[in-house]
Amino acid sequence: MHTNVEQIFSFIDTESTFIEEQQSGTYLEGVVYALELWITNKKVPTIQEAEKEQIRKAVQLAILKGMKKSVQVNHQMTPDAIGLLVGYFVKEMAKDKKELAILDPALGTGNLLYTIMNILPTENHAFGVEIDELLIQLSAQTAELLACDIQLFRQDALKPLLIDPVDIVVSDLPVGYYPDEETAKDYFLHSEEEMSYAHHLFMEQSMKHVKPGGYLYFLVPDTIFESKQAPKLHKFIKENGWIQAVIQFPSTIFKTKGQEKSLLILQKKSEELNAPREVLLAKVPNMSNKEAMELFFQKIDIWQEQNAK
Ligand code: SAM
Repeated sequence: MHTNVEQIFSFIDTESTFIEEQQSGTYLEGVVYALELWITNKKVPTIQEAEKEQIRKAVQLAILKGMKKSVQVNHQMTPDAIGLLVGYFVKEMAKDKKELAILDPALGTGNLLYTIMNILPTENHAFGVEIDELLIQLSAQTAELLACDIQLFRQDALKPLLIDPVDIVVSDLPVGYYPDEETAKDYFLHSEEEMSYAHHLFMEQSMKHVKPGGYLYFLVPDTIFESKQAPKLHKFIKENGWIQAVIQFPSTIFKTKGQEKSLLILQKKSEELNAPREVLLAKVPNMSNKEAMELFFQKIDIWQEQNAK
């Protein structure tokens, strides 16, 4: 007896492999084709009623397979281990909210955003921005299968966005130099000496699109506060927000050395709120160590309780 995840994956895999073998497209384009068949009811996987998480996981497995076959720099899906942990923080910190508007300005396949939305018990409305056509197509189809309330924008997220301020921003930021210097000039965080860092500009754009008191959850390089452009970033954060937490992930999650990321949680300043009593600085233990993980979550709960006082 196959599970729903296996059945869905096998359905997408068969159709995608067919497209690849016929040479009418890549495996990833085949995933788009398979999802289209499913959405339009032309062909569907043989499943019992599937839960949202089962659909997300199966689609994710197929996309990962496609990304491995034809490697492209911007085709980087946020791993589940990270998504689940970010989801834990978002859920804990939004406990008192009945409804959330969430933005991911670097949506990619949507895996990070949908992982979080599947964890949240609240009613949510999301906005996603992505520059890559294939990725936004995949994320749109996944959203449809998950019956997820989302508005998508295919554009450069650093150009003006027609999105009202949201409660929360979550994003696995694209790291590196931003090539459009003309657009970069409009940002406080642009660099005078060299090309500006895209991940810094994304943080500024996100801050602009979050409500006062709203939270921003960014996956950023471990070394973000050590770079040449870091002093300006420090100044920007100090003027506009509060650092709530910096959480380092174990390097084993990341495929290549030098790609390690941390979760940086910021809150946009608000006149009605005070700065956090204590910034949480933590390192996620080896995730297969159950005891160490329990201790880690206890530490977060204590910090969260103290901060809420
Ligand atoms: N969280 C995503 C997921 O789970 O699939 C992965 C995000 S990936 C690390 C960063 C994404 O930013 C890539 O999909 C890339 O195409 C997108 N990106 C890079 N520059 C962009 C820009 N200027 N505007 C919008 N999206 C951009």
